[in-house]
Amino acid sequence: MASGSASLMWFRKGLRIHDNPALEHACKGAKHVYPVFVIDPHYMEPDPNAFSPGSTRAGLNRIQFLLESLVDLDLSLKKLGSRLLVLKGEPGELLIRCLKEWDIKKLCFEYDTDPYYQALDVKVKNYALLAGIEIFSPVSHTLFNPSDIIKKNGGRPPLSYQSFVKLAGQPPSLLLTTVHSVPPVGVLGSCKVSEVPTIKELGYVDIKQDDFSPFKGGESEALKRLKECMKNKEWVANFEKPKGNPSAFLRPATTVLSPYLKFGCLSSRYFYHHIQEIYKTVPKHTSPPVSLLGQLLWRDFFYTAAFGTPNFDRMRGNSICKQIPWKDDDKLLEAWREARTGFPWIDAIMVQLRKWGWMHHLARHSVACFLTRGDLFVHWEKGRDVFERLLIDSDWAINNGNWLWLSCSSFFYQYNRIYSPVSFGKKYDPNGDFIRHFLPVLKDMPKEYIYEPWTAPLSVQTKAKCIIGKEYPLPVVCHDSASKECRARMGEAYAMNQKLNGKVSEQDSRRKL
Ligand code: FAD
Repeated sequence: MASGSASLMWFRKGLRIHDNPALEHACKGAKHVYPVFVIDPHYMEPDPNAFSPGSTRAGLNRIQFLLESLVDLDLSLKKLGSRLLVLKGEPGELLIRCLKEWDIKKLCFEYDTDPYYQALDVKVKNYALLAGIEIFSPVSHTLFNPSDIIKKNGGRPPLSYQSFVKLAGQPPSLLLTTVHSVPPVGVLGSCKVSEVPTIKELGYVDIKQDDFSPFKGGESEALKRLKECMKNKEWVANFEKPKGNPSAFLRPATTVLSPYLKFGCLSSRYFYHHIQEIYKTVPKHTSPPVSLLGQLLWRDFFYTAAFGTPNFDRMRGNSICKQIPWKDDDKLLEAWREARTGFPWIDAIMVQLRKWGWMHHLARHSVACFLTRGDLFVHWEKGRDVFERLLIDSDWAINNGNWLWLSCSSFFYQYNRIYSPVSFGKKYDPNGDFIRHFLPVLKDMPKEYIYEPWTAPLSVQTKAKCIIGKEYPLPVVCHDSASKECRARMGEAYAMNQKLNGKVSEQDSRRKL
């Protein structure tokens, strides 16, 4: 690039200043830098037909989290002498218009493995290449480059955590690329840019402020949260999943950094580096897969598996996914989604999902197992869709990977191990405080009945002002018989998959002969 010319920094994820190699490169030698974020209406604007408030693709909590993250990024850029330029429309078309209008010589953006960005980037890159624009698109959303790991493994993604960790080794050491100033924005011409809109300006008019998740978006929040977590060195050193308490909601048992990692308000390399620094100062610490550092490796594991597996987000055409004849039962799906299963532990978690957009990992295990192979035998793709919409940390690779896991469709195959919707939660929270908080209709139910309120005598229900079947639903299934039936169906499906695989390998060996 000729020195003194203009570059465009295209923010998508990676909504941060720290450890942002694309931003650093955009600033190098440039006279003007245009920091751009494009609002895709499909992602942000209201869809009146969706099952919960929000757009076609995202629930309101995640949209609000993203807006907060953009406001924070804009403030940080202003401190560095610049600002965030917000555009609205089809991102590919708008980007190309800006490249032309602003006579851009260098285009910088973080590499993204999600199918949405893979398709979008081809369009923009093709234009930039033809126009002679330099492209810089580094891998900085994950610790490792998924392509490198796949190459090291002979062209296929590793499908077990252990083989992933062995192949991956140590992530590249952290180069602290914090930018100290950003060259000013140049002339804007006819490109219509605005400030970050408010949720109301996007068209969400009937919103009360307490409708939102307690977790606020942005790099500043992310760094504050990281600092707070890292203060307790002993906690970091002894972190051991799955030992935490999934019902702890006043003070969650894990970091709640996932939404910040999802939008790149926090760099996973920066997080990894901080954990490593703590490990150096303590006599002993836990190790992967259960340690805190091990959690970040899970993240990279799923990114690599997702990137290297065609049709990773569906059962059909996905070579690593067991083919299972799931039930197509919209009534059961709705009861699960709307927190009306009649199992308070499951329903309270689903309310937490809707209100907070975040739940503990084991709580996610409970409801995903219940919907699929544990009780309802509903397709994992349907549950995935609900999580994808409502989670504030909703992440294409991680969400699909974990649904494949929990439904015993891939990665994990012990389908006889089912979470009880009654006793699992009780083990952590015998008084049912988590249930009382998220399902206030049960707040006066005595603790003996809080996990199985349908067993309470009518006099107890009356005293608790909650008649089961009226104020709170009866269970949609009997867990004992439903889980037994699910195990049998899974057994049959596994046997069928084995036969199918046998046939495929027989055909393969005949073809080789
Ligand atoms: P911590 O325990 O503090 O871990 C730190 C970071 O490690 C997390 O922020 C996350 O980035 C990563 N991590 C932890 N556990 C996992 C895991 N099992 N797989 C991959 N990365 C992990 N996580 C998402 O970020 N987005 C999703 O869409 C998502 N969907 C899920 C769906 C199901 C059915 C299940 C069972 C789990 C899902 N998870 C998802 C994984 C996990 O539950 C969350 O990452 C974790 O609970 C986030 O809380 P935390 O930040 O406090 O995690």
